[in-house]
Amino acid sequence: MNKGFPAGHIDLDRLRLGPVEWSGDVPGDPATWGLETLRVVGSPALRYRAEAGGHDGVRVTGRFEAVLLVDCRRCVRELEWPVEIDFDLRFDPSVEAWQEEQGVFGMDPDAASLDLFRPLREELSLVIPDYPVCRDECLGFCSRCGADLNESRCDCVSEQGDPRWDVLRDLVPDGQPGAAEPDGEDDGNGG
Ligand SMILES: [Zn+2]
Ligand SMILES: [Zn+2]
Repeated sequence: MNKGFPAGHIDLDRLRLGPVEWSGDVPGDPATWGLETLRVVGSPALRYRAEAGGHDGVRVTGRFEAVLLVDCRRCVRELEWPVEIDFDLRFDPSVEAWQEEQGVFGMDPDAASLDLFRPLREELSLVIPDYPVCRDECLGFCSRCGADLNESRCDCVSEQGDPRWDVLRDLVPDGQPGAAEPDGEDDGNGG
């Protein structure tokens, strides 16, 4: 156990006696995770094994599971976004801050404990979705009148054409096999 240290902090003195294993819940508050635009639901689950690594460093392997609350980029509804991260982190006293790369971190060997939250924040930032949508078919808002197109139709699309199709038209070369042809008037949903 991690006696005397909060969750997510590895007792370095204890580690010198042998590998440390820990599993449990860790705080999900924004201060812990330094997240501005998304929130963590409840208490994430953390499980790890820490052992001596090369160069008097530490290797920590484990799994982190959390549920994030993100906004659908089309309709801005909140949705829960589960993430599961299997990590393999190396802490090396000879690594300077500017030499850190993914999964490799510097550490102060004289410190009492090793903070896992900073590397976990970085791992988390890698799996945060760039463009979360509540479902693939989410229609979002009409860019012209602001109507929620999941709730109701507006007249803008049929009159003006959806400007998003213009972009696709430019991207898809004419006659490419399987390319969707968005020009048909009323066959969008097949019924
Ligand atoms: Zn949506
Ligand atoms: Zn509209």
